[in-house]
Amino acid sequence: MRAKLIVANWKMNGSFALIEAMQKVLSPILKKTTCEILVCPPYVLIPSMKKTVEGTRIAVGGQNVHSETAGAFTGETSVLLLQECGIKWCIVGHSERRILFGETDTFIRRKIEVLLKHGIRPILCIGETLDQRESDNHEEVVVTQLGKGLSGLAVEDQMRCVVAYEPIWAIGTGKTATEEQANSMHQLIRKELESLASPEAAEKMQILYGGSVNVENAEILLSQSEVDGALVGGASLKIETFPQIVAAGG
Ligand code: PEP
Repeated sequence: MRAKLIVANWKMNGSFALIEAMQKVLSPILKKTTCEILVCPPYVLIPSMKKTVEGTRIAVGGQNVHSETAGAFTGETSVLLLQECGIKWCIVGHSERRILFGETDTFIRRKIEVLLKHGIRPILCIGETLDQRESDNHEEVVVTQLGKGLSGLAVEDQMRCVVAYEPIWAIGTGKTATEEQANSMHQLIRKELESLASPEAAEKMQILYGGSVNVENAEILLSQSEVDGALVGGASLKIETFPQIVAAGG
């Protein structure tokens, strides 16, 4: 049985005040839910967030990392600093990084390797554009991104990765994949993981759905057999309703 993982991706949003507020509203839910909860705030907030959630079941993650451990990379953050902050998870390959910052599959793969080497679990985001879905290329795109991210890694390393299926047309658009679309893409990803890793590994690996998850659709999406959690952007900033999304995970 795979635990459900709910990831809050604050993107370039949030504040010190939101950290306190979020901790307060999530506190009562933590007693009831069996979900793993991970909040990924902007880097500057990480130490403060770690301190605030210390001793709770809320984990703190990174939104990105550089593939090099140090050097002349102005504006970037090293895995060594994430490690020093006690970070155990980090998102990589988010479509906003791929599209807005030109990140390639090769670069993303190097980030995955550096994270694994430093004991941090990568959350690899993959997903197709609207054009790719409409031209029926979505399966090929997703399988290619997955393969470029994970093939050639040792099975035990692959198993430390989480995959987030995030159709780009659903991110921040209010347009969510239907539960059937999400479940069938997750099925495809799991099948691919069987050959990239092993059937046993594929069975254990978490595959999250991301793309306009909100309080209205969380329950139906999270109840799908192949959906092991959600990567939540916009709705993870709403203290009134984010706890209900976590609760929808069971
Ligand atoms: C995301 O940030 O990965 C995301 C899915 O955003 P949103 O929930 O706002 O669509």
